[in-house]
Amino acid sequence: MPAKIINGKTYADGLRARIAGHVERLKHEHGVTPGLAVVIVGHDPGSEIYVSQKAKQTVELGMHSEKYELPENTSEAEVLTLVQKLNADPAIHGILVQSPLPKQIDPMKVIATISPDKDVDCFTPSSVGKLQIGLPGPVSCTPLGCLMLLRDTLGQLEGLNAVIVGRSNLVGRPLAQLLLRDNCTVTMAHSKTRNLASVVRGADIVVAAVGRPQMIKGDWIKPGATVIDVGINRIPAPERGEGRTRLLGDVDFKSASEVAGAITPVPGGVGPMTIVCLLANTVTTASLINGIEPPK
Ligand code: NDP
Repeated sequence: MPAKIINGKTYADGLRARIAGHVERLKHEHGVTPGLAVVIVGHDPGSEIYVSQKAKQTVELGMHSEKYELPENTSEAEVLTLVQKLNADPAIHGILVQSPLPKQIDPMKVIATISPDKDVDCFTPSSVGKLQIGLPGPVSCTPLGCLMLLRDTLGQLEGLNAVIVGRSNLVGRPLAQLLLRDNCTVTMAHSKTRNLASVVRGADIVVAAVGRPQMIKGDWIKPGATVIDVGINRIPAPERGEGRTRLLGDVDFKSASEVAGAITPVPGGVGPMTIVCLLANTVTTASLINGIEPPK
């Protein structure tokens, strides 16, 4: 039987509606309007589209949005000063500095300057530590989106074998923490893992976060497993016209969907969840900063 397709877009639409309800309550019951500031330095076309979408969705949900577009030659000191100003601004509850940054700016210094209370990307050492020991706080956006889709698809995750391919700070590592919290048995695979296909074959849950188009094949998947494809790979698509491209995931969707029980498509799977989780995190930090219980 072909796999169930996990529709991230539909789930994200529902979550957006729930967040709008939380924003309404924060405004009317507590006089708090959650505010998100996004900082972009230089001209990376992909980042510009992504940042505009973030700002648009923030406003659509009734939240306060600030967008700072700085020129390519902005100094590290200028970015740090802006972040400090946003740290002190009571109208702002979430700060996101879009990567990649130009080479004169050390991303680690920028991350270390963001107030942990406003760290909606969950990048600061303090946020990473909180996530590890289970304290309340923001949870990395893409991993949170993956977790929500898995819970929605499978219900209980307890006792399941999860194999995450990719160990980045952005996706693989925080997702491992979240799945451990849900009592999965977690294996993290990476570029030095031996016999990757057989490791993946043992998984009830496979998460691919590698950045290599169609690397994970159908015959690596245990029949009935749930497959979450985080990969976004833009490849040339001359069949669509000159200069056109298309998106591929890290999983070979065609062969994997013949074996898996459920699978996310690319696009339309994990991707739509990331921005909406950023907005959810901003509601969480706005609540915590104001001493209000954050929504579950
Ligand atoms: P990174 O490049 O930071 O990490 C890639 C990981 O894959 C590394 O841990 C690396 O191992 C591992 N890897 C590389 N090659 C292999 C291989 N041949 N076999 C096994 N493991 C391998 O990537 P990110 O985590 O930032 O992103 C991963 C993918 O997810 C990308 O396609 C990215 O575009 C996408 N993405 C999608 C998002 C969304 O919203 N849907 C959000 C964020 C990312 P090692 O550590 O040993 O080098």
